Amino acid sequence: MSGSQQSNSEDAAGASWDDGRSRLDAISSFILTHELEVNSFTLATAYEIVFGNNETLATRVAQRVSAREPVTLDWLQTIADEAAEEENAPELQVLVEELESTMGAFARTASDARNATTQYSSALEQHARGLDQSGTDAKQITRVVKEVLSHTRTLEDELDRSEREVHRLERRLADARRDAEVDYLTGLPNRRAFEMIFERELNLACEKDEPLCVAFCDIDHFKQVNDVHGHEAGDRVLRYVAETLSSISGERCHVARHGGEEFGAIFRGLDVMEAWAAIDEVRDKLAGQRLVNRATDVPFGQITFSAGVAWVRAYSQPRTALRAADDALYQAKRTGRNRVVIAELPEH
Ligand code: GH3
Ligand code: MG
Ligand code: MG
Repeated sequence: MSGSQQSNSEDAAGASWDDGRSRLDAISSFILTHELEVNSFTLATAYEIVFGNNETLATRVAQRVSAREPVTLDWLQTIADEAAEEENAPELQVLVEELESTMGAFARTASDARNATTQYSSALEQHARGLDQSGTDAKQITRVVKEVLSHTRTLEDELDRSEREVHRLERRLADARRDAEVDYLTGLPNRRAFEMIFERELNLACEKDEPLCVAFCDIDHFKQVNDVHGHEAGDRVLRYVAETLSSISGERCHVARHGGEEFGAIFRGLDVMEAWAAIDEVRDKLAGQRLVNRATDVPFGQITFSAGVAWVRAYSQPRTALRAADDALYQAKRTGRNRVVIAELPEH
């Protein structure tokens, strides 16, 4: 290697090191200024703010700083969640609501118009009966009136048909809305429905002053099931786990497919130990079975899941509780899988 080549590569390494160090300095300065905990979320968020990858977030932070309000982890999480929600704006839902209101208005108009024509018709019929009993001119008028009557009847029929069509569409939209909240593979509520249920159950729990717990369960080494038995067999295992988990569903326990091979459960009226026991019982039941791939007769072996459970109302923000349950799930993974871990309570 020539001397000049060597010094060029050293320069390049030096430049990227400097650049990296100044980036890290900027990120740590953001985290230290706002006294934030150092974790993957704050690091990624600081990066986005400092390097302008997320203008909305950067503007919100600048506004908050100039208003002398604290930039805390909970606040950052809330606005990050808001941004994510906006991004995933449930377009179908918006569309469904718009269509529903348009059709509702149309149905009301149609029904009002039909009432008006009915009133018209009966008034005209009354007049026609009176005119029938008079002379020839009156007979001609009667014929005209009868024509009008026949027209209004046709109009009435059309309005009836349109109204029936609107009701049919309304039913289809209600079905479409329900389908949008159900996971097609397992038939469980999907992630969107899970979030809505979580909000509803949290409101109920606060109203009734009841405990609320949330759990996340993730199938262990599921990738291996797919790798060994194929995706279709993997789907059957997923459905089986979903069925096993939903055995604890009820009025106050809701199980949903949160995504991939992960499930969420919400327990209202159970404290964290009771929620832990409920999940652990299902875990134990599943782990005790030996499933066989019915297409090949090859055993799946032991199918297990790991879970994390958190006591929602112990956290200042519901989102923090969800994150705590998720952290507990990963602790369950790290400490050997096939177990349920209770999330640490927040420090106050
Ligand atoms: P861990 O114990 O750490 O959770 O390991 P894992 O293998 O379960 O986790 P990993 O995240 O590596 O793999 C998850 C796998 O789940 C990969 C993905 O293909 C599979 N998966 C996600 N959704 C579905 C699905 O709907 N059907 C099937 N068959 N597989 C799915
Ligand atoms: Mg998994
Ligand atoms: Mg997973």
